[in-house]
Amino acid sequence: MSKDDDRKAPIRPLTRLAQAGRKAEWTGMPGQPGGIVSAPVWRASTILYDDVAHLRRAAASSTHERLFYGRKGTPTAWSLADALTEMEPGAAGTMLYPSGVAAIACALLAVLKPGDQLLMVDSAYDPTRNFCEQTLRPMGIETIYYDPCVGTGIADLLTDRTRAIFLESPGSLTFEVQDIPAICALARDRDIVTLLDNTWATPLFFPAHAHGVDISILACTKYIVGHSDVMMGSASATDQWFGKLRQTAYLFGQMVSPDDAWLASRGLRTLGVRLRQHQEGALAVAQWLADQPDVAHVLHPALPDCPGHDLWQRDFSGSSGLFSFILDGGDEASRAALIDGLAHFGIGYSWGGFESLALPVDPARYRSATRWEAAGPAIRLHIGLEDPADLIADLDAGLSRFRAARG
Ligand SMILES: *Cc1c(COP(=O)(O)O)cnc(C)c1O
Repeated sequence: MSKDDDRKAPIRPLTRLAQAGRKAEWTGMPGQPGGIVSAPVWRASTILYDDVAHLRRAAASSTHERLFYGRKGTPTAWSLADALTEMEPGAAGTMLYPSGVAAIACALLAVLKPGDQLLMVDSAYDPTRNFCEQTLRPMGIETIYYDPCVGTGIADLLTDRTRAIFLESPGSLTFEVQDIPAICALARDRDIVTLLDNTWATPLFFPAHAHGVDISILACTKYIVGHSDVMMGSASATDQWFGKLRQTAYLFGQMVSPDDAWLASRGLRTLGVRLRQHQEGALAVAQWLADQPDVAHVLHPALPDCPGHDLWQRDFSGSSGLFSFILDGGDEASRAALIDGLAHFGIGYSWGGFESLALPVDPARYRSATRWEAAGPAIRLHIGLEDPADLIADLDAGLSRFRAARG
C-alpha cells in the first residue's frame, strides 16, 4: 500500500476492497523501494532463526502475524485475514479456517463451555445444527432452537445459563431475515455473546459488527473465493472476543494453505463487481418466477413474500444471488423433471461461484422450533454471472416439464 496517511481518511467499502491487506512488508523487499501489487504465495513449514537467542525471543513473544512456524501462517494468509478485518468495520482481527464449517465449530468452541446454553436459529445451515447435536450436546452444552422471526421475543428464551446466541440471516434454504440489531442489543445488555453466519450478504451488504454482532463468520468458499475451487472459512471478532477466538484456533491447529489464501485474496478483489451482477441477475430471475402460475412463493429477501423483508430493507445494502422458490403443488418426481433438464444450471451443493446452480431442498427435515409447511416442493437457486435472459428461458422450459410431469 501507499503512504500510511492515505489510509487514515475514511474510505468507502469498494475502495477498501481494492486496498485492504496490502501491507508494504508483505509486498516489497526489505531495503528496496517499490513493491508488487498483491502478497505472493509464501510457502513454509520451518522458519529459520538467526541464533538460539532469536529462537527463544520468537517463542516468548506474540506469534500473531509474525513468522514463527508454518502453522501460524505466512504473509499470504495474513494479508487475506487483514483484508477481511478491514472489510468488517469494528473487527479487531480475523482467523482463517479450512472450511466454513470449521470456522463455525471453532467460533462456538471459543465462547462455550460445559454447562452453558446456546440459542441457535431454527433456520441455521444444517451442518451447524449437526455440530450442536453431535459435538456440543455430548460435551454438556445444550442447544435451544428459536424461531428466526422471534425478534425481541428471544428475551423469553434467555436463562442464567445462556452464554451465546447464534444467528444466520437470511436463513439457509428459507431466507427469513432476522432482527439482528435488536437481538444483539438485548444480548449485549446481559453479557451474552452473539455470532452471525454472514455468508449470504458478506460484509459488503451487511457489516456485522456495525450492527452489534460480536463474531462474524463467513464460508469464504462461497462469495469470497467466488470461483468454486477453494474451501475456506473465516471468523472476525471485536476486541472483546478476538483473543479467545485466536487462542482456540491455535489450539485446534486451524490454518489455511498459502495457495488457497492467495486464491481467496484474488477472489476478494472482485467481490464488489461480482455481487452487483449476482444481485441483478437473481432479482430478474426471482421477479420473473414470482409471476409464474406454477410458483407459489419466492423466498428472496428483497421480495415482499420473504419473512423479514422489511428488516432486510432496513439493515442490508444489497441482496446476493441465492434464493429459493416453492412450487404450487407437485412432488419429488415433478420437481426432478424441472431440475434435471436445465441446460444452464448445475446440480450440486455449495454456491457463490460464477456459475448458476439448482438444488432440491426440503427444509422440514431441519426444523425443530418451528414447522415448515409449504404448498409444494422447494428449489434453491444460485444465480451466477450468466445472462439472466438465458436463465429465465431455461427455467421457463423447466416449468413446462414440471407441468407435464405433474399431469
Ligand atoms: C456453505 C455454507 C457454510 C459452510 O461452508 P463450507 O466452506 O462448505 O464448510 C456455512 N454457512 C452457510 C450459510 C453456507 O452456505
